[in-house]
Amino acid sequence: MEISEEIKSEIRRMAVRNALDYGKAEPGVVLNRVLSRFPELRGDINALSKAVLPIVDSINSLGRQELETEAGRYSADFAAEKARKLERTAKPNFALDGAVNGAFATRFPPAPNGYMHIGHAKVAFIESISAQAYSGTMALYFDDTNPEKDRQEFVDEIKKGLEWLGISFDSEYYASDNLQLLYRCAGKLISDGNAYVCSCTGEEVKKGRIAGKGCDHKAQETQRNMELWDDMLGGKFEENGAILRLNSDMNADNTTLRDPTLFRIKKTTHYRQGDKYSVWPTYDINTPVIDSTKGITDVIRSKEFELRDELYFRVLNLLGMRKPRIHSVARLEIKGNITSKRRLNELIARKLIWGYDDPRLVTIAGLRRRGILPEAIKNLVLKFGLSKAERETDMGELLAENRRLIDGTAKRLFFIANPVRISVTGIPTDKLTARMRLHPKNELGFREYSLSGTFLISAPEAGSISEGDIVQLKTLFNITIDSKGESGIEAHYASGGSPGPVKLAWIDAENSRQAHLYTIGDLLEGEEFNAESMIQTDGFIEAYVDYLNRGDVVQFEKVGFFKLDDKTGMRFISM
Ligand SMILES: [Zn+2]
Repeated sequence: MEISEEIKSEIRRMAVRNALDYGKAEPGVVLNRVLSRFPELRGDINALSKAVLPIVDSINSLGRQELETEAGRYSADFAAEKARKLERTAKPNFALDGAVNGAFATRFPPAPNGYMHIGHAKVAFIESISAQAYSGTMALYFDDTNPEKDRQEFVDEIKKGLEWLGISFDSEYYASDNLQLLYRCAGKLISDGNAYVCSCTGEEVKKGRIAGKGCDHKAQETQRNMELWDDMLGGKFEENGAILRLNSDMNADNTTLRDPTLFRIKKTTHYRQGDKYSVWPTYDINTPVIDSTKGITDVIRSKEFELRDELYFRVLNLLGMRKPRIHSVARLEIKGNITSKRRLNELIARKLIWGYDDPRLVTIAGLRRRGILPEAIKNLVLKFGLSKAERETDMGELLAENRRLIDGTAKRLFFIANPVRISVTGIPTDKLTARMRLHPKNELGFREYSLSGTFLISAPEAGSISEGDIVQLKTLFNITIDSKGESGIEAHYASGGSPGPVKLAWIDAENSRQAHLYTIGDLLEGEEFNAESMIQTDGFIEAYVDYLNRGDVVQFEKVGFFKLDDKTGMRFISM
């Protein structure tokens, strides 16, 4: 079948869209999109993939500027597409109570004290999709007011992760650049009698909150509080020597309202501000004040913060500041995995995992290393939408989504664990070259080997054949089994005839390389670390691996999808 010019231009448009969204167009993704638009082409995937590959290549060879020029040609189409997509996604799934089209501003608020994980990705995707749906903006806001924990490396890591996810921002700002503003707010709260300086120990503060009883400092005169606040700012207190607390309600049912801490003294050097400040705001003051000041209209945060909503609004009420809307969404939790920093650090310290980018983890670095595509994460997030209802999911759902995306582009190769040697005599000269497709349907090319006559097959398959059997070396030719012995199997070429019912996966012994497959399971078993979360299988793969690069994805026939994680060590990890 000829692929028409109309379809070719559609392929080009989809490749441009894909490259714009993800930095690079993926032939498999483009192919799938074209098929969903023109289902009639399913009958001739070969012709279609032949058309897709050169177009995707040519798009991928464009520089950013050229790509954007190219995208300009489709801007009307893209706008229409976006509108259709919003129609689908904005209602009812992406309808946010009270949000106004064209007057919408949201922000993604990571604290730069750890690595991003799939839960952050969910919130960031939802914010970015909502910002598009409401023709609004999205800011990147670093909540960096803990000098002991915040680090530039995490800022960089978070930005890298977001870029990889394909999420972009209209602006970027840092809580720590806004301390003067926050100090002014503190001053107002104190002079209005709504905040006081407390020099109780951390233990005493905690006990008072549990008992629902205020300390002596709560009754302090406003004038005294103002002097003590000046002392805090003037560096007259030791680290943790005093805190500024909201003068709220020590009996509140919502315990976050029991005179929460607004500022504390930390004398550690801050990664961004150096030693300029020693009085640091907490999440409960900097989030409402900075959101309000930066013009945020809609805050989307995961449900576990819901208890803090009341405090957020109370702070803004007391300061007489504009209040954004808050929308809560369910937290994305992956069964059998963890995102808690404390628990991850513990596993790293015990050397049970390789680090934050261990492919067993649902950190962004881990997912990326495992070969999960950003689009797979986005599709999973879209399934949940804005629902507040918790729904458990597991890695299986994400992996299935990912496999759907990579299936069209993963090269097929053989992998043999526990090899048994089989010598085949009498192979005709014209059959001594094996040329095999790298993909059963799509045009991904061929691998070619000169056969030595000695093959490696797997022990279980070897066990299933007997003397006298005629079997097929898969896609190659039939052989007759002559004998099975300690040192291997002897066989001879069987000319003609229909293929034997048994098709053996094989590797030519002279065209083989050692390789190690790491098959990944759940990180946890119950609440404990799963000792079988990664199982190593050693074996042999085809010499075609010489042409693969780190990061390439293959499907080992009868085994599964794997990503080449380390070429020197020939380490593959399961996907
Ligand atoms: Zn006190």
